Formats: sequence, structure tokens, C-alpha cells
Amino acid sequence: MYTFDVRNVINQATGYKDTHTVDLPLAFPEVRNFTEVKDFPQTEDFTEIKNFSETKDFSQTDDFSKTKEIFAVSPMHLEVSFRKLPDGINAEVEKLQVSLQFPCSRCITPYVLSLDIKPFEACFYINAPQEILDEAGIFFIDKKRLTVDLSDMLRQEILLHFPLVPLCSKSCKGLCVTCGKNRNHTKCRCTHKSVTSSDSQQPFQNIKNLISGY
Ligand SMILES: [Zn+2]
Ligand SMILES: [Zn+2]
Repeated sequence: MYTFDVRNVINQATGYKDTHTVDLPLAFPEVRNFTEVKDFPQTEDFTEIKNFSETKDFSQTDDFSKTKEIFAVSPMHLEVSFRKLPDGINAEVEKLQVSLQFPCSRCITPYVLSLDIKPFEACFYINAPQEILDEAGIFFIDKKRLTVDLSDMLRQEILLHFPLVPLCSKSCKGLCVTCGKNRNHTKCRCTHKSVTSSDSQQPFQNIKNLISGY
């Protein structure tokens, strides 16, 4: 999907530059494109479709990748130029913008994060260079079709910009571990109870009681 014809660049002198500006749907294994999902849930529906056991597990594990998917909610805006090198082509991504919807890792409510990624570049070689410093960063021109595939390059860069801990807001209160309610919207009784309970205020008292029982 992210393949560009570089025929006219390859045939030019070293230093020749050709720029493309495109809007493309973004879909990687880690990110689904919302246009591909027929019943893409609206933000409010999304909170309702989750069932309680799911939310509870989620708040305890922190492993958000297993629970909810990440969606691209805008096309990917890409400005890329291809510059002829003696032994290949340098792909310079000058602009890369996309809006992604992440599930908050505390309250699992989806929120949108707009990524505006700083310029980055990668070399696409005609033949394998003699000295390979970083194999992950080495790409090749499809010599048969005279194209370059930017998929891996774009995917790597976008994944690097994923938040380590996606949060709808820094002050997100998360879900109540007892009743599962979103504590940003509701003040549940159990929250109140757990905060003032002797258990949480005197953790050592419980141990003392245990020991004295023997
Ligand atoms: Zn949240
Ligand atoms: Zn509660």
C-alpha cells in the first residue's frame, strides 16, 4: 500500500529529488483503520460494549495491547521525497501526521492522539552495501518494478511514537477495582470505603494481627 514508483528518480543524476504529498489510509498489524471496520463503535458505545470482567482484568494487568485495539481515525498525511544517491535512493519523510485512537490504560475509554512526527529518512539500496551497520534500517529498491516500499519504515517510526502508557489525561482516575465504574465520571461508594478503610491506612496492623494469631 505504501509503494512508490521511483523509476524517474533512478534514471536521474545523483542529488535529484522528487517529492510526493499523499493522504493514505493507515493500516498496520498494530493499527486498524476505522474505515475497514463496519461497526466501528462510537466513543460512547465503546465504553458500553466492554463487559465487566474484561475491565477488571485490564485494570490489574496493565497489558493494554491484549484488550483493545488501536485505530487510525484519520488518513495518514505523508510528505516524502526521494533523492538519488550513487548506490540507491534516500527516502526523506518530511511530514508524517496521523490521528490514532488509543484505549486509556487506566479507564479504557478511547481517546484520540494526533501524531506529528519529526522528519526522518532511510536508504533504499540497489544492491546490498558491503558494510551493513544496522540491518533493521536497510531497505532495498524493487529492481524489477523500480519501486520502494515504505511500509516498514513508516511502521517502525509510528510505533516508536506510541505512548508507553496511553492515558486519556494525566489526571485520569481510572476504573474502580471493586465495582468497575469509571471514576472520572462517577464517585462510587466502594472507592470511598476502600480509601478510608483500616486495611489501606494500617497495612501493618493486619500483619500484626496475623502474627499474634499464632
Ligand atoms: Zn482514562
Ligand atoms: Zn466502586
